[in-house]
Amino acid sequence: MDTQQLWQATLGELELLLSKANFTTWFKNTGVSSLREGKVIISVSNNFTKEWLEKKYHQTILKALRNVTNQEIKEIKYSVEPLPNQSPVKSELEPNLENRPTETEPTKKTAISNNQLAGEERKKNQKQLDNFNINTRYTFGNFIVGKNNELAHAAALAVSKSPGRTYNPLFIYGGVGLGKTHLLQAIGHKILIENNQEKKTLYVSCEKFTNDFISAIQNGQTKNFYQKYRLVDILLIDDIQFISRKEQTQEAFFHTFNDLHQHNKQVVISSDRPPKAIADLEHRLVSRFEWGMIADISTPDLETKIAIIESKAKEKNYSLTPEISNYLATVIRNNIRELEGALNKIIGYSQLKNRQLKLEEIKEIISSITINSQKKPLTIKLILNTVSEYFDIKIEDIISPCRKKNLAEARQTIMYLIREELKTSYPVIGQEIGGRDHTTVIHACDKISEKIKNNNKVRQDIEILKQKLHS
Ligand code: ADP
Ligand code: MG
Repeated sequence: MDTQQLWQATLGELELLLSKANFTTWFKNTGVSSLREGKVIISVSNNFTKEWLEKKYHQTILKALRNVTNQEIKEIKYSVEPLPNQSPVKSELEPNLENRPTETEPTKKTAISNNQLAGEERKKNQKQLDNFNINTRYTFGNFIVGKNNELAHAAALAVSKSPGRTYNPLFIYGGVGLGKTHLLQAIGHKILIENNQEKKTLYVSCEKFTNDFISAIQNGQTKNFYQKYRLVDILLIDDIQFISRKEQTQEAFFHTFNDLHQHNKQVVISSDRPPKAIADLEHRLVSRFEWGMIADISTPDLETKIAIIESKAKEKNYSLTPEISNYLATVIRNNIRELEGALNKIIGYSQLKNRQLKLEEIKEIISSITINSQKKPLTIKLILNTVSEYFDIKIEDIISPCRKKNLAEARQTIMYLIREELKTSYPVIGQEIGGRDHTTVIHACDKISEKIKNNNKVRQDIEILKQKLHS
């Protein structure tokens, strides 16, 4: 086996062990540049990937290599080497190898606080931020990194360090209230204020982009519209899923994207789902969104939630006992925005009473939030039961590998409803529904969305099922 065959076989192993997004992101441009006396040198195209492989995937790679060769593998080294088909110009565009930020940097190095800046500069900064819709509330410094968001965070940080040179575009997706806007804003803040770069870093919601475009058409000013967006150095566009079904806006975004990308201008996109799962998104846009890096944010675990709530409380000069932060993080499951809402409510009451609140009082105060969610304790199990009853099909059969038409339809309906109602990640849905691959789930969700549009029966089924779930 030569080194190339060895690496191909190893990649085959790795593909089975990793999610598709991680596999393509980290192993896309890798190879084995030498194998001698049990020492393997893996070539990667940039330092960011090198560090990530060293830190996160070393053991997995070692295991995969050992599985495919009978030679003893003693050591793996990673080296940054331009790919043979890369032109010299392109490799110059690789990220600055020495200065890449480490993951811990944002917590160690706090943003320059406003009062440290001279008055003039402060005014200039504020103007910059207003012009570009950047909100100082959201920075890397106050973003808590957990397992659920570490990839998105690291990628956002790398992008803010060398915009247009690391991953372009960067596509971040995840459910509501999990920090996508926060990361996009943090990129803008870091470039404009912390790094004080003269780069036009524009944050825009997809809605705003759409409205801008529509009024440009109405006023016959599309030229101005294109000019505005093409002049930016970094475009941060939030909630791109809302571009679904808006053909003309998609066209406008396509041209804007191409123009920026060709000039090595950074584009960062957020969405509540991966590109392929955005309904009615033109294929050419899907494929562009997949050019760079796709990073997901999932729901945080308990420790991360506690860290977030404590950091938010600290920002507001409010102190929480560990008992209370633990309680809040347990009660509020999935959405950090809700966690923050609960905290604000508590602070409000505490100020009214002019004292710290006891756990019992807190339980009462936030009961409205939890009562709301208790009224409909929507779970995967409930969805399974409801659909199984509705179609009169046994749950075992739905979960089984059997591909009979009626089973497949019920299964797809379940996957769709879990995704719609609970915003569960595709891999988790796949796991819950008989250990299926996340691509199967994405396919199922697309299929049902499509049918809802074209098939009255399916539309009614879904409507009735939703009513049942919420009654
Ligand atoms: P999204 O855009 O994904 O819906 P946001 O970025 O608006 O979510 O986040 C909702 C709230 O939760 C914001 O106030 C944000 O600061 C906070 N938040 C989310 N994730 C984190 C995190 N990892 N660390 C600190 N705050 C967070
Ligand atoms: Mg948002």
